[in-house]
Amino acid sequence: MKRRDVLHTTVGGALAGFVSAREVQAQQQAARATRGTPSPKIKDVSVITTQPTGVRLVVVKITTDQDGLYRYGCATFTQRADLVVPAVEKYLKPFLIGKPADRIDDTWQACYNSSYWRNGPVLNNAISGVDQALWDIKGRQAGMPVYQLLGGKMREAAASYTSIGGGEVPQIVDGAKKAMAQGYRHIRLQINVPGMSAYGAGGGGGASAPKVQALHTDPVYEPGAYIRRTVPMLQEVRKQLGNDVELLHDIHERVSPREAIQFAKEIESVRLFYLEDPFSPEDIGYFRQLRQQCNTAVAMGELFSSPQEWTPLISERLIDYIRIHISMAGGLTPCRKIANLGEFYGVKTAWHGPGDVSPIGHMCNLHLDLASYNFGVQEGGVIRGVEAEIFKGSETFKDGYLYANDSPGWGIEVDEKLAAKYPFRAGGGGGGGANLNGGWGVIRRLDGTVIKQ
Ligand code: MG
Repeated sequence: MKRRDVLHTTVGGALAGFVSAREVQAQQQAARATRGTPSPKIKDVSVITTQPTGVRLVVVKITTDQDGLYRYGCATFTQRADLVVPAVEKYLKPFLIGKPADRIDDTWQACYNSSYWRNGPVLNNAISGVDQALWDIKGRQAGMPVYQLLGGKMREAAASYTSIGGGEVPQIVDGAKKAMAQGYRHIRLQINVPGMSAYGAGGGGGASAPKVQALHTDPVYEPGAYIRRTVPMLQEVRKQLGNDVELLHDIHERVSPREAIQFAKEIESVRLFYLEDPFSPEDIGYFRQLRQQCNTAVAMGELFSSPQEWTPLISERLIDYIRIHISMAGGLTPCRKIANLGEFYGVKTAWHGPGDVSPIGHMCNLHLDLASYNFGVQEGGVIRGVEAEIFKGSETFKDGYLYANDSPGWGIEVDEKLAAKYPFRAGGGGGGGANLNGGWGVIRRLDGTVIKQ
């Protein structure tokens, strides 16, 4: 034996007890780190339905076989909320009971393909509820917020925008200035049309509004009247507010493709942050023509549910912002992939975040915002009143930014007893609808032609 080896052995022997204790501790730590937590199994899948404000919310709750390990996902499709519930309870629940709760993408693929005919907002929302709940569970297991599971924060908070609508320019400018005083640096502007239905600006049917002569009694919309009101409004508001605020506008797919291209060209000098939904999903072939004719930034996608709709627009760089409603596309799992795809092509995210997203869904938007390099702007997400009481831990708003809490998963606990006090109410509905079970009604042109809304 060489002298060096003897010395090593002697020293090692003298400290044997001390070293051994440290080694045991290190081995235990290594074992915990590499083994992770035991794989939980899905024990129950249930649906929470609640209408604390005007919108029907649907949230999926997954319970596992481990004590206290249950979490939530957004499955809100307000216009057909009652159909999502049996899609979860009658199809996904029996499919998922007993399966591991920690194989998120595998579970998503299995659910998505199990109906053979896939896509569509009802089935995608049902899957989204499961998917987001599984991410929430994994966050709980890891003791981390979901944004940490996605790689960690890229930014401290997400810039959000608010929508200002009104009947005349002074009213809109006043509303925009109030929003700017609250810290908003991004504002969507909509103006109504007297006597007609308008998106995002309230009805134009005040007492002083002229009576529109239509060949029917349903709400009326005419693209020409909308364009003649909106183009000068955007130009005038830009003039009055100056350049230190980002302005947005939503056409809401209500004009023809040719009219939308003309519109985008006419407001080019307004330098919109983006023009939203110039075309309907059926007309996305027109994006190439729009790109060739003007430089107005465009956002699209809140009506998308199929990957066949968004992948060509991103990979051909035909849009600037992707507006997907995350639960309509099937949840966080597909949408984080869409965000990554957009990063490679310079397309930013602007996830759909209106009132008909549950606070769980808004939090999913926000965690992706925080963890995506190509984040653009976030709609909505300011949770107040009884909704904030039901969904404890919802994101907070300050000076134009949305903040997530640092609790594991989504960081939201649902007060199910309080939610049960606000069941779905009968009737209601937008687009002139009444007693449509939360669905939307119909809007027609003067001659009676139904428009997309
Ligand atoms: Mg929109």
